[in-house]
Amino acid sequence: MKPQYQYQYDVLVIGSGASGASLALKLAPSAKIAVISKKELTEGCTLYAQGGIAGVCKNAEDSIQAHVDDTVNAGAGLCDPNIVRFAVENGEKQIEWLIDKKVPFTQQTAANGEQHYHLTREGGHTHRRVFHATDATGEAIEKTLVDNIIGRQNIDIFEHHIAIDLIMESKVSDVQTQQQNNRCVGAYILDRKTNSVAVFRARFVVLASGGASKVYLYTSNPDVSTGDGIAMAWRAGCRVANMEFIQFHPTCLYHPKAKSFLVTEALRGEGAKLLLPNGKPFMQQFDPRGELAPRDIVARAIDHEMKRLGIPCVHLDISHQSEDFIKSHFPTIYSRCLELGIDITKEPIPVVPAAHYTCGGVMTNSVGQTDISGVYAIGETAFTGLHGANRMASNSLLECFVFATAAAEDILSKIDTIPYPPIQSEWDESRVTNSDEEVVVSHNWDELRQFMWDYVGIVRTNKRLERAKHRVDLLTHEINDYYGNFRVNNDLIELRNLVQVAELIIRSAMLRKESRGLHYTLDYPQTNENTQPHNTVLTPTNYIEPMSDERANAATHADQSHPVTTPPNKNENILH
Ligand SMILES: Cc1cc2nc3c(=O)[nH]c(=O)nc-3n(C[C@H](O)[C@H](O)[C@H](O)COP(=O)(O)OP(=O)(O)OC[C@H]3O[C@@H](n4cnc5c(N)ncnc54)[C@H](O)[C@@H]3O)c2cc1C
Repeated sequence: MKPQYQYQYDVLVIGSGASGASLALKLAPSAKIAVISKKELTEGCTLYAQGGIAGVCKNAEDSIQAHVDDTVNAGAGLCDPNIVRFAVENGEKQIEWLIDKKVPFTQQTAANGEQHYHLTREGGHTHRRVFHATDATGEAIEKTLVDNIIGRQNIDIFEHHIAIDLIMESKVSDVQTQQQNNRCVGAYILDRKTNSVAVFRARFVVLASGGASKVYLYTSNPDVSTGDGIAMAWRAGCRVANMEFIQFHPTCLYHPKAKSFLVTEALRGEGAKLLLPNGKPFMQQFDPRGELAPRDIVARAIDHEMKRLGIPCVHLDISHQSEDFIKSHFPTIYSRCLELGIDITKEPIPVVPAAHYTCGGVMTNSVGQTDISGVYAIGETAFTGLHGANRMASNSLLECFVFATAAAEDILSKIDTIPYPPIQSEWDESRVTNSDEEVVVSHNWDELRQFMWDYVGIVRTNKRLERAKHRVDLLTHEINDYYGNFRVNNDLIELRNLVQVAELIIRSAMLRKESRGLHYTLDYPQTNENTQPHNTVLTPTNYIEPMSDERANAATHADQSHPVTTPPNKNENILH
């Protein structure tokens, strides 16, 4: 067999959203970088972010302390105060950097004729501090970053390539050498167009692959959000934390042709009513604030009614407003719904809550370093300790830029001390064949997302979680067996990751015997005020405690005294 070509870079960046693209730009003057993207460079959650990015600027009435306090309040006792302060203090610098890169944030003219950036205020924020580009901030940011990356010296772009697994330095038996060798040296990457797998060797690998909301039937996220970075890191031996905290957005358009279309909360702000199929409003029974109750309460109420009545969606009605008002205030929603045959000036919009944001992820310290030398995790893939048990709106983009910068600085400070990895074993397909029944993948994909929605969704119970655990264990077995016998393709890689992440979410949810933040269970409806709030840290069986102080900071936000569990199955990379 002809030897495969092996790529070699200083830094392999997996993901081209806000976190990956900004990190690449910050490294580019001094390092040779590969940026890998599953689809087109721009595709990812960043592109769809609507609201904006939070940041306190010097000349505003706002303060760092107020932003810190708001974030900590939203996080329901689980934010790491040092990380929150670090992120908030660095906000202005990041926004200046984005402005410098020419992100067209919305401006307004003051009475004295001067131009200022227009700041909005969102749920949980006590001040106006959200920089935005009309109602399409993510698109403005992502397209600007991608424009900056394309053609940039030192950055090679690999679109339609999907990372499969991290490559670790060869395994050895004695503990000290294990610690010394617990270093990642690259990743196996599948070219989706040619279906061939290549070795990418690198001194550093950065997981910037976004969240895992695609594990649920309904999600506001694009198809790429399948938790690949979290699953890859876990298989390689990294701890993950707080996977039970999944944020659900209350209103996503429910229509067979409308995948992932968010219906903004601003509609409810303008008096839209949530209705049952018989036209009856129901929010007042759940909260005196009705439709204006916080996001998690509205999502829970909708979920309750859907489960009680066995209905697939509820309705959101803004038709009491005039046609002109609706068209001028909500042009995007009006035209998108009209395309699907729904005239929102005359009829209600079918909506469901949808998985929106993964608060947990791969454990990192304040510079994005994970448990494995050479592996960093940034953006929605990472668990930094910023969000605690509930993410405050517009803090996630902030997190992407702050920790991408910190990781870039850390990598550059070490880069000269790390040699290029030697040639690695090639991807071996000698013992696998083409799949005989692709239906196994599509069936398991649907089944997984359905039971995650039904049993591990907005409202949980012990029984629902047990049912989900039983099913995920069966699927894990089946998918690993399939993976071991057949040639990989994009869907199989994603399904294997989704099932892994689902298992981590279920296990984390089972460990939390209280309701806190985004985790709500009917069996423990109260927040446990008697014990110190703790993070849920899961430790893989192949975890090797870092030798040096590389991940020392992680302990500042990972309470090690609470239950730390290991997976039931031996979790090794299954490479064929
Ligand atoms: C509809 C919507 C609205 C939002 N609004 C806001 C908002 O107003 N403010 C805010 O702060 N946050 C908002 N968020 C959240 C925020 O957009 C995300 O948390 C953030 O953009 C994540 O950036 P990221 O770089 O971590 O990942 P993403 O932007 O999701 O990028 C992930 C990248 O990884 C790539 N990738 C994934 N797996 C692989 C693999 N195996 N191999 C190769 N490449 C891979 C993808 O192709 C993509 O390039 C919103 C999210 C959604 C969905």
